[in-house]
Amino acid sequence: MSDVVGLSAFDAARAIAAGSLSAEELFEVYRARAASDRAAGVDGLNCFTWVAAEPPDAVAASAQAPLEGVPLAVKDLFCTEGVPSQSGSRILEGYLPPYTASVVRRLHSAGVRLLAKTNQDEFAMGSSNENSAFGAVRNPWDRERVPGGSSGGSAAAVAAGLAPWALGTDTGGSIRQPAALCGIVGMKPTYGSVSRYGMIAFASSLDQAGPLTRDVRDAALLLGHMVGHDPCDATSLRFPHTIELPTAERLDGVRLGVPEELAGASSLEGEGIEAGVLDAFRAALARAEELGAQVSDVRLPHAPHALSAYYVIAPAEASSNLARFDGVRYGLRAADAADLLDMYTRTRHDGFGAEVKRRIMLGTYALSSGYYDAYYDRAQRVRTKIAEDFRAAFAQVDLIVTPTAPTVAFKLGEKTADPLAMYLNDFCTVPMSLAGIPAISIPCGLSQGLPVGLQLAGPAFSENRVLDAAHALEQSIGFDGSAVRKRSSLPAPAQGPPLSEILNLPRES
Ligand code: GLN
Repeated sequence: MSDVVGLSAFDAARAIAAGSLSAEELFEVYRARAASDRAAGVDGLNCFTWVAAEPPDAVAASAQAPLEGVPLAVKDLFCTEGVPSQSGSRILEGYLPPYTASVVRRLHSAGVRLLAKTNQDEFAMGSSNENSAFGAVRNPWDRERVPGGSSGGSAAAVAAGLAPWALGTDTGGSIRQPAALCGIVGMKPTYGSVSRYGMIAFASSLDQAGPLTRDVRDAALLLGHMVGHDPCDATSLRFPHTIELPTAERLDGVRLGVPEELAGASSLEGEGIEAGVLDAFRAALARAEELGAQVSDVRLPHAPHALSAYYVIAPAEASSNLARFDGVRYGLRAADAADLLDMYTRTRHDGFGAEVKRRIMLGTYALSSGYYDAYYDRAQRVRTKIAEDFRAAFAQVDLIVTPTAPTVAFKLGEKTADPLAMYLNDFCTVPMSLAGIPAISIPCGLSQGLPVGLQLAGPAFSENRVLDAAHALEQSIGFDGSAVRKRSSLPAPAQGPPLSEILNLPRES
């Protein structure tokens, strides 16, 4: 493996700026690695739905863009002009958008180059990446296991060193849960801080883009170039601060709240959070105390109802958003239809997968007259209660900590026959999504040899505080995912200069 794959995106950007690493070489190393995974199909990790054939043109070389030359993998559902953008669905197979999502354009102006599009659950509906029309993604820690979802391709690619970093989206946990299952960092920012313009919608009041990275500093670096107001998105907000690179090494005075509802052995509707996950979580809490944090219990009384509310609200919004896929404007159109209605019906029958059809039916039902009050309206009331719980909790503590996912990565096929078991994956992440608040997942240890994620959440726009605390914990935990990157049997086409040279470090004698 070429040494450059060992660099974080931050270090790669710095080395390029210092002239000790060529952007072309960096791009080619990752391009070849991603292309070989793509060529291996289901024998690889199946992370990608498209890989660049050559480096895209650099933005004006004189620009000295801050992220100049760093390659980026982007979840399939971000529209990228002239590049397939299919949201993991047969119904959009081969769709080439005429424009690029605002957040991708923003990053492009900061200097990143589009390396690849990543595999995902169809329309971001799923927790295992098994709902993709383009085949399941495998977890680089254990190929027989899922990478999580729906941003599973992005998470697996970063964990396996096939991309330095990646974009994902999170509606109920789709950045944080795959980050946890693949042993990397994933952050969902405050709702509205990153433009949704050009993101193929799942549930518009919940969808947010965010970074999937190897470490917290890279997450801050990428997120800092993603946030900002966009007039093309009516829900876009002006982020009130600059996102700083985190430096904290201590947690003195930081009040961490642990909600029994999301972090207790008896939470999760009696199923409980896996013992190994709880052990790693508690060990991380002990470490936080050693770093000076005050850890206390906090209550989120309505959080156990979040999943039920989410599975009314998200499908309701999806059923409306997905009405546009009718064979007229985008992607697939069923051939030989008898008339217009037959064309609509057959296109949607052939184009959507089973989970998407299930959500459309659920959502249409919940919104139909006679059921609207009983389901949709009630779910919205629960959502308000959950947001109020968080507000009350943040009057007592600075940040809330929970495990990210109730289990480590599970076996491919283990939960596909039981949608409810699959939905429980997001038990700890959905409450923050409903409340629109920022949350990060960092790896906090191993259970059964597989990574465990720890989630830190804060009030709206507290990204800097969340990132700082995550950084301090990360430094102290010292989780090392490099073995998984090295284990990747992919060819190393270009042998780069030694790390010490790239980073301008003194040579070891
Ligand atoms: N797993 C959840 C779902 O299937 C969340 C998905 C997401 O965040 N996009 O809806």
